[in-house]
Order: sequence, then structure tokens, then C-alpha cells
Amino acid sequence: MPEMPPAPSALEASERALRSRRLVQISTLTIAGLAVIALRALVTGNWSDAAIVGAGITTMLLCQSMNRRGATESANLLLVMALTAMVSLLMWNGEGLRDSALLAFPAVLISAGLLTQPGRVVQLLLAMLVVIALLLLGTLEGWRSDTPPQALPSRALDTVIILLVSGFALWVMVGDLHRALDRLNVQIGQYEESQKNLTYLSHHDALTQLPNRLLGRTRIEQAMAHARRNGSQVALLFVDLDNFKAVNDSLGHTAGDDFLGQVAQRLRETVRQTDVVARQGGDEFLIGITDIRQSDMTTTVAQKVLARMAELFVVRGTEISGSCSIGIALFPDDGDDFETLLRNADISVYHAKDAGRNVFRFYDPSMNTRMQENLQLVAGLRTALAQQAFVLHYQPVVDLATGRLVAAEALLRWRGADGRLVPPGDFIPAAEKSGLIVDIGEWVLREACRQMVAWRAAGFAPFVIAVNLSPVQFRRGTMETVIRGALDASGLPAAQLELEVTESTLIQDSEKFIIALKGLKSLGIRISIDDFGTGYSNLSYLQRFSIDKLKIDQSFVRRLQDGPQERAIVSAIIQIARSLHLVTTAEGIEDEAVRQELLALGCAQGQGYLFSRPLDAQAFTAQVLVPGTVLPAPTAPPPPPAPPSA
Ligand code: C2E
Ligand code: MG
Ligand code: MG
Repeated sequence: MPEMPPAPSALEASERALRSRRLVQISTLTIAGLAVIALRALVTGNWSDAAIVGAGITTMLLCQSMNRRGATESANLLLVMALTAMVSLLMWNGEGLRDSALLAFPAVLISAGLLTQPGRVVQLLLAMLVVIALLLLGTLEGWRSDTPPQALPSRALDTVIILLVSGFALWVMVGDLHRALDRLNVQIGQYEESQKNLTYLSHHDALTQLPNRLLGRTRIEQAMAHARRNGSQVALLFVDLDNFKAVNDSLGHTAGDDFLGQVAQRLRETVRQTDVVARQGGDEFLIGITDIRQSDMTTTVAQKVLARMAELFVVRGTEISGSCSIGIALFPDDGDDFETLLRNADISVYHAKDAGRNVFRFYDPSMNTRMQENLQLVAGLRTALAQQAFVLHYQPVVDLATGRLVAAEALLRWRGADGRLVPPGDFIPAAEKSGLIVDIGEWVLREACRQMVAWRAAGFAPFVIAVNLSPVQFRRGTMETVIRGALDASGLPAAQLELEVTESTLIQDSEKFIIALKGLKSLGIRISIDDFGTGYSNLSYLQRFSIDKLKIDQSFVRRLQDGPQERAIVSAIIQIARSLHLVTTAEGIEDEAVRQELLALGCAQGQGYLFSRPLDAQAFTAQVLVPGTVLPAPTAPPPPPAPPSA
């Protein structure tokens, strides 16, 4: 298919229309002028001039007709060429270089400028110069001779006609030029405006209208340079909203945007005009407090920001309580350049979040070390998970009265590169914070179930295995599936699995958690409360979640014999459990006297070094599972007292 010619642009079309209009105007005026000249030639009997001008008029009419048919370009070219030819012939035929027609050359040039391209004007000018040279040569060589000079009135008439035509052409041209200049000015204005908009957009955040991170950085760096010169300080506040995700999730993104806009507005209102407020991205903002001369100024601003954020927000008719965490780094003490300052403010905000949110924290160098260590620890845990460097140890839970095994608690250990076993207290908090506990916890469950089935297959009497669960594992909402998966994969009956949760897990009390717990209970799994007494001790949830067992925290057990008050606490816990039909297990029993005391108080089960330390599976098999084992294993009778010395 032949390619279509491109559509003419609107600008080209309007230019062509203008040229067409100009052709009609100039040719009509010229025809009128020429008609007068032709008439005079006829009256004076100058037939050759009359014929030349007549031909000129005919050509003008032809040009107009071509223009009407759309051939404006060619019509324009023909018009200026015909005029040049006509003027040249009139001069050749008349007074030569003295002929008044010579005056028409500038008028033709002006018309050419108006109607054609600049290149044509130059060509026409050259043609005119050639005509003048020919006229000169022709006259000098005698190829032609001048007619007698025109009468003055006739010359005046020619001059007036030529002046009128050229004056009109010039007037039109100047008008066009002015209009073009005006258009250009408007375009330049628009260009400058869009340039300004572009600069603004590239430096501001479209949502909050605050400077973006780029401009924020520039402004804070300027403040730092200023502070460096006059010895003042700059504080960089890293503000992180605590509940933005919740707002976004529950009310939608438009409401989230609205919320951010209001936050930005409040931040701006809280600080001085000379301070910097910028959006760092997402729900993070930077505040640069400039020119600090009093040390408590930063604290005051941080407190003001926290207080302002704690005031209720109304987002699309819904009241929202907001809060934020703030990390603060000071220039020059905490960083001499923006990068360092920002990194340290970021580290501090991490610590502010850790401290329970809605607080601010000043950077201190120990944070950095702790952060590094923490990062290394998490990386190590990830590798350990991949390389199966975790092991489970098992600690027996015994019937306090008979010393028989009733359950085993699975306790996690991490075998380090040097073969040393790292206790869970050293890595569980980091695993929880990084979310890795979810995968680690799943491994623990599967491994504990697998080991139990292996013991059963080896012919040992069945007992219950207790596995510790972190609150973080429940937050994922996949707990039930994970546990079902572990039971199915191993074939362990659900009644042999006990889950230890802490009081902090129970008070989450979320819909997800309640559903998960109900699902697990319906499978026949038991739930026990670990470290009871150290948390919130809200008894209402014991019934609400149909808990099976309370594990009295070892701190109470250890203090049991310290005095009547300590004894009363443990006694109270046992009484509560009994009235709610819960089993009690005392943790951390290290000596026989404590076992006796607990038995007397009505505690059913116990766990502790008195019976056994946590053991690996092999040792547990050998020392605990041997049929007939009673814990604590009877120790050798004490040696007889030495005979009194003489
Ligand atoms: P816990 O669940 O309260 O476990 C009991 C802890 O007390 C164990 O420490 C155990 O070794 C220790 N213990 C037992 N008897 C005695 C005693 O007579 N005296 C003393 N001084 N200590 C005794 P471990 O193994 O270091 O575990 C510490 C904590 O780590 C556990 O406390 C539990 O909260 C957590 N943990 C252990 N394994 C896991 C796990 O697989 N997942 C989760 N989420 N947490 C775990
Ligand atoms: Mg436990
Ligand atoms: Mg415990």
C-alpha cells in the first residue's frame, strides 16, 4: 500500500490560509492600480504599455483562479514573477533606468517577502539586478532607447499607485510580523510556565506538596553548611508513622493519601518557617531543625510533633488516632555529612519503634553496633535454617507424686560454626523481629512430631510433646495449616501435641488468633500458658480460650521458700488453676525440698534440673525413656558420717 503523506500540521495550514488571503488582497490592489495605468496607456495611445499591463492584469487574474483551486504556492510565485517581468518590460519599453516603474521593484520584493519563502526573495532580487544591468547595457549599447520623459502628472500618478500598493503590502507585512511576535511572546510565556511547573514537580512531592527527598536533602545540606560557618547545630528528625498501614488497609488508599496530606500539614505547622520538612517516601518524613543554639530545642520540637500527631485525625468522616516514632541525629556530633546523619536518624527510629512506638530516640553510637550485630545474627539464622543447624533438646515433665514421665518440652538450640550450642534466649528475639521465627517454628514443630513418632515406633510408652510458639507465628494467620501439616506429615495423634503460648500471645485477642485457636482445640491439641504470672495475668482468657494447663514461671518456684508471701503467690496460682480445672506444672524445680513443698500445695506436675536438664534425643532416650524410670533418679545414699576424731 502506498504510504499516505503526513497530514499537514495546524500551524502549516493556518500559514497557507494566511498566504492565500494575502495573495487575494495584494493581487486585487495591484489589478486596480494596473487598470488605472492601462487606462492611461490606452488614452495616450501607448499600445505596447497597454498590452504589457493588460498581460499583467490577466496573469493576476490567473493567479487568483489558481489560488481558488488551492495552488496558492504556485500562484504566489507566478504573481511576483509576473510583476517583475511586467515592470522590467515597462522599463525596457519606456524610460529605461529613469522610468517611474523602477519604483515598483521594492514593492514587488516586499510582496514576495509576504507571499513566498525568503529564498524566492533573494532570487527575485538577483533577477532585478540582472534586469537593471541589461537595461544599462541595452541603453549604452543602443539596443534600446529611452522614450521622452513622462509628463509630471503621469509620473505622479504612477508613483502614487506604486506607493499605495507597496505601502499596503508593507502595512500588511508589519501587521503579520507584530502578530507573529505576540504569538511568540505567548508561547515563550507558556514555555516558561511549564518549565517552572516541571522544576517544582521534580522537587516536590505531588501528594503532600512538601519538598521531596531530593530537595529536602539539598535544604538540609544548606542548613548544615550554614551551621558549620556559625558554629550552631542542625537536628535531623526521621519521623515514621506508626499506623499508616492500618489506615491504608482499613480505609483504602484514597483515605491513606488524605491522612498523609494531613500529617504533612501538621508537621509543617509544628516547626518554624526556617526549618525543613520533607517527605522521605511512603509514611516517612524528614524534619531538619536548623540553627540550634539551645540543646533542649530539639527535644521540645520532638515532643511537640508527638503531641500534635496524637491529636485525632478526621479522614473522610472517620476519626483516626495517629502516632509516630522519631529518630534524631544531630549535626555535627552524629554525622558530618547528610548520608551519615540520615543513616543514624534511621537507626534511632528503629530503636524508637522497638521502645514501643510513639516515642523519640536520640542517636547514640552503641545503637550502630547493636544494629550491626543484630543484622549479622539474622543473617546467621537464615543460614542455619538453610543448613539445618538447629537441634531440639527435650526436657521431661514429670508427675510430682510418682516421678513418672508425663510429657517432654522441646527446646530449640542452634549449633554454631564452632559446634557450640547457642541457647534460644540469644536468638529468638532477633528471629521474632525479623519474622524468621515463622520458618524456624515450623521446623521445630515438624522435627518434634517426627521424633515423637520415631520414639513410638521404637516401642516407648506414649507421652505428650510440648512445643513453644511465638506470638509472631500466630500473627501470620497460617498457624492452623502449619500444625495440621506437621501432624499429617508425621502421623502423630493430635492429642499427643501440646502448644505452649505466653500470656502476651493471648492478649493479642485478634479475630485471626481466636479462629486459629478454636481450630487447633477442635483437633484435640492441648494449650498451655507458659511462664504464667509474669505477664498480664488476666484470668478471663483462661476460660475464654479453653486453656488446659498453667506453667508456673520458674521465678516464683525459685522464691517459693523465701517466705510466706512467696509461698502464698504460688499457692494462689495453684488454687486458681484447680478451680478452673487446669493442670499446673511448676517450672525450674532444682531441689527436692521445693518438689515436696509444691506437692503439698497441690501442684500436679513439675519440670526442672532436679529431674533432668534438657537432653538431646539420644540422651533423652537413654536416660528418661528407659522403662521403669522414675525421676529424680535415686541418688547414691550419702556416705556414712566420718567417725569422730579422737
Ligand atoms: P521456657 O519455655 O520457659 O523453657 C524453659 C526454660 O527453662 C528452658 O530454657 C530450660 O532449659 C530452662 N530450665 C528448665 N529447668 C530449669 C531449672 O531447673 N533451672 C533453670 N535455671 N532453668 C531451667 P531454654 O531452653 O534456654 O529456653 C528458654 C526459652 O526459650 C523457653 O522458655 C522458651 O520461651 C524459648 N524457646 C525455647 N525453644 C523454643 C522454640 O522452639 N520456639 C519458641 N518460640 N521459643 C522457644
Ligand atoms: Mg516453654
Ligand atoms: Mg517457661
